[in-house]
Amino acid sequence: MKAIVLYSGGLDSVLALGLIHRLGIEVQPLHLALPFQPSPPKKSGSTMAENLFREFGLKLKTLALEEEFLRMVEHPRFGRGKQLNPCIDCRVLMLETCGAMLPEFKADFIVTGEVLGQRPMSQHRQALELIDRKSGLQGLVLRPLSARCLEPTIPELKGWVSREALLGISGRGRKEQLALAREWNIHGFDAPGGGCLLTDAGYVRKLRNLMKADMLNISNLRWIQYGRYFSLDQECKMMVARNERECELLAAQALDQDILLRPENTSGPTALIRGESRSEHLDLAAAIVAYYCRAGAQAEISIRRVSSREEKRVFREPLPESRLRSMLIS
Ligand code: SF4
Repeated sequence: MKAIVLYSGGLDSVLALGLIHRLGIEVQPLHLALPFQPSPPKKSGSTMAENLFREFGLKLKTLALEEEFLRMVEHPRFGRGKQLNPCIDCRVLMLETCGAMLPEFKADFIVTGEVLGQRPMSQHRQALELIDRKSGLQGLVLRPLSARCLEPTIPELKGWVSREALLGISGRGRKEQLALAREWNIHGFDAPGGGCLLTDAGYVRKLRNLMKADMLNISNLRWIQYGRYFSLDQECKMMVARNERECELLAAQALDQDILLRPENTSGPTALIRGESRSEHLDLAAAIVAYYCRAGAQAEISIRRVSSREEKRVFREPLPESRLRSMLIS
């Protein structure tokens, strides 16, 4: 038999994959890349998985869920968690996507690393049942780390997988998973939890502001990940880098129609304006960049549209702090 293993990059999905592989089931790891995971991905998680896939001779398949994920965030059917995280809708979408790929991989069922009771919204018993039902995969989703605490699935009932060989982990503790990782010599994984920007209060404040301005799209989601976010007005937003790495990340994300600001006579941050910008926005933005420069009284700021070679240079005094704070969303 063959299983698609929904691989998230975390330890639990690696353990689930290892467990099923060790039972002699052919496995196909599938990573669904979500727009709300920080990019670039954390190195240690990817290294751990690369080692394991090499050891087992597996090829990871990655698929990006973008527009469909965005629409779901705007209009979730099953509500949200503490922030903007629509966890149940998210799991349904992921499993539906996996389910649609069963024929392509000639696979018989799906495996996930979910642990009963580990996450408050999407991993309690009723939520898991609801997710399986709504994704049209009732009985076909095996959660090997918690299987013995859950109703037997089709792979167990049909004897494709021995229920006795599966685990009965539940709750938020990680002791059993860490012990298994030690036993299997799996190293280099990140601390669990977090990872989804939709649960990060600071990111969500920026995201809500974008949603209010009807500016929710994939490139804007990446754009607001790094730096200070300013809402210059309803239709015009600006990101200001906080360090050298963010200066590079911002510059790399610039779109043709964006406006790029850089200090010329002093060290200071790169900034990027997006949306409907008028000349008063540019003035304001230059004064914000000047606030973060080391020039003291006046900073010389170059301003140019990314698609154009023409630039304008202006000298600006730093914007008063109270005015700056009224536009900063953090
Ligand atoms: S925390 Fe984020 S990635 Fe995880 S289930 Fe919820 S919405 Fe999806």
